[in-house]
Amino acid sequence: MADPFLPPAGYGPRSTLVRGCTACGACCAAPDIAALDKPLGVPCVHLGAGCLCAIYATRPQVCRNYAPDWVCGEVAPLQTLEARVRRFLEIYGLQDELPQ
Ligand code: SF4
Ligand code: SF4
Repeated sequence: MADPFLPPAGYGPRSTLVRGCTACGACCAAPDIAALDKPLGVPCVHLGAGCLCAIYATRPQVCRNYAPDWVCGEVAPLQTLEARVRRFLEIYGLQDELPQ
Protein backbone atom coordinates (compact mmCIF):
# COMPACT_ATOMS: atom_id res chain seq x y z
CA MET A 1 0.00 0.00 0.00
CA ALA A 2 1.28 3.48 -0.84
CA ASP A 3 2.61 5.55 2.05
CA PRO A 4 -0.18 8.08 2.82
CA PHE A 5 2.44 10.61 3.96
CA LEU A 6 4.29 10.76 0.65
CA PRO A 7 3.00 13.64 -1.48
CA PRO A 8 1.98 12.95 -5.07
CA ALA A 9 4.15 14.07 -7.96
CA GLY A 10 4.38 17.84 -8.14
CA TYR A 11 4.33 18.43 -4.39
CA GLY A 12 7.83 17.25 -3.59
CA PRO A 13 9.73 20.54 -3.39
CA ARG A 14 7.31 22.16 -0.99
CA SER A 15 5.96 19.36 1.14
CA THR A 16 7.27 18.79 4.59
CA LEU A 17 7.06 15.26 5.81
CA VAL A 18 4.75 15.56 8.82
CA ARG A 19 3.67 12.27 10.33
CA GLY A 20 0.93 12.30 12.88
CA CYS A 21 -1.35 15.18 13.78
CA THR A 22 0.24 18.40 15.02
CA ALA A 23 -3.17 19.91 15.84
CA CYS A 24 -2.81 22.59 13.18
CA GLY A 25 -6.59 22.85 12.93
CA ALA A 26 -6.81 22.88 9.12
CA CYS A 27 -8.96 19.78 8.76
CA CYS A 28 -11.36 21.16 11.41
CA ALA A 29 -11.70 24.44 9.55
CA ALA A 30 -11.25 23.94 5.79
CA PRO A 31 -13.62 21.17 4.65
CA ASP A 32 -17.38 21.27 4.89
CA ILE A 33 -18.60 18.68 7.40
CA ALA A 34 -22.24 17.72 6.98
CA ALA A 35 -22.46 15.90 10.33
CA LEU A 36 -21.62 19.19 12.04
CA ASP A 37 -23.51 21.42 9.63
CA LYS A 38 -20.15 23.12 9.08
CA PRO A 39 -19.64 25.15 5.92
CA LEU A 40 -16.48 25.12 3.84
CA GLY A 41 -13.69 27.35 5.11
CA VAL A 42 -15.30 28.14 8.47
CA PRO A 43 -13.67 26.79 11.64
CA CYS A 44 -15.79 24.21 13.46
CA VAL A 45 -17.62 25.73 16.43
CA HIS A 46 -15.94 23.09 18.59
CA LEU A 47 -12.42 24.08 17.57
CA GLY A 48 -11.00 25.53 20.76
CA ALA A 49 -7.84 27.21 21.95
CA GLY A 50 -4.64 25.86 20.46
CA CYS A 51 -6.69 24.30 17.64
CA LEU A 52 -7.80 21.48 19.93
CA CYS A 53 -11.23 19.89 19.75
CA ALA A 54 -13.43 20.95 22.69
CA ILE A 55 -15.63 17.85 22.34
CA TYR A 56 -12.87 15.38 21.54
CA ALA A 57 -14.35 12.51 23.59
CA THR A 58 -17.73 12.83 21.87
CA ARG A 59 -16.69 14.13 18.42
CA PRO A 60 -18.67 12.64 15.52
CA GLN A 61 -17.59 9.56 13.63
CA VAL A 62 -16.49 11.54 10.59
CA CYS A 63 -13.88 13.27 12.77
CA ARG A 64 -12.79 9.96 14.29
CA ASN A 65 -12.31 8.53 10.81
CA TYR A 66 -10.07 11.36 9.60
CA ALA A 67 -6.45 10.26 9.42
CA PRO A 68 -3.38 12.46 8.88
CA ASP A 69 -1.73 12.13 5.46
CA TRP A 70 0.61 14.09 3.15
CA VAL A 71 -1.73 17.08 3.14
CA CYS A 72 -0.72 17.69 6.77
CA GLY A 73 2.82 18.23 5.51
CA GLU A 74 1.58 20.97 3.22
CA VAL A 75 -0.62 22.78 5.70
CA ALA A 76 0.64 22.17 9.23
CA PRO A 77 3.94 24.11 8.88
CA LEU A 78 2.12 27.30 7.77
CA GLN A 79 2.00 30.05 10.39
CA THR A 80 -1.70 30.87 10.69
CA LEU A 81 -4.91 28.88 10.63
CA GLU A 82 -6.11 31.13 7.81
CA ALA A 83 -3.06 30.23 5.71
CA ARG A 84 -3.51 26.53 6.47
CA VAL A 85 -7.17 26.66 5.45
CA ARG A 86 -6.28 28.47 2.23
CA ARG A 87 -3.65 25.88 1.32
CA PHE A 88 -5.91 22.95 2.27
CA LEU A 89 -8.65 24.25 -0.03
CA GLU A 90 -6.13 24.94 -2.81
CA ILE A 91 -4.91 21.36 -2.66
CA TYR A 92 -8.44 20.07 -3.13
CA GLY A 93 -9.24 22.68 -5.79
CA LEU A 94 -11.95 24.19 -3.58
CA GLN A 95 -10.57 27.72 -3.14
CA ASP A 96 -13.19 29.14 -5.51
CA GLU A 97 -16.06 27.46 -3.63
CA LEU A 98 -15.77 29.78 -0.65
CA PRO A 99 -18.74 32.11 -0.18
CA GLN A 100 -17.80 35.64 -1.33
S1 SF4 B 1 -4.60 18.87 8.88
FE1 SF4 B 1 -3.37 17.15 9.65
S2 SF4 B 1 -1.96 18.05 11.17
FE2 SF4 B 1 -3.62 19.52 10.82
S3 SF4 B 1 -5.15 19.06 12.42
FE3 SF4 B 1 -5.74 17.91 10.58
S4 SF4 B 1 -4.81 15.88 10.80
FE4 SF4 B 1 -3.79 17.28 12.25
S1 SF4 C 1 -15.87 18.26 16.22
FE1 SF4 C 1 -13.76 18.48 16.91
S2 SF4 C 1 -12.55 17.09 15.58
FE2 SF4 C 1 -14.55 17.44 14.59
S3 SF4 C 1 -14.22 19.19 13.19
FE3 SF4 C 1 -14.99 20.00 15.15
S4 SF4 C 1 -13.14 20.56 16.30
FE4 SF4 C 1 -12.53 19.15 14.65
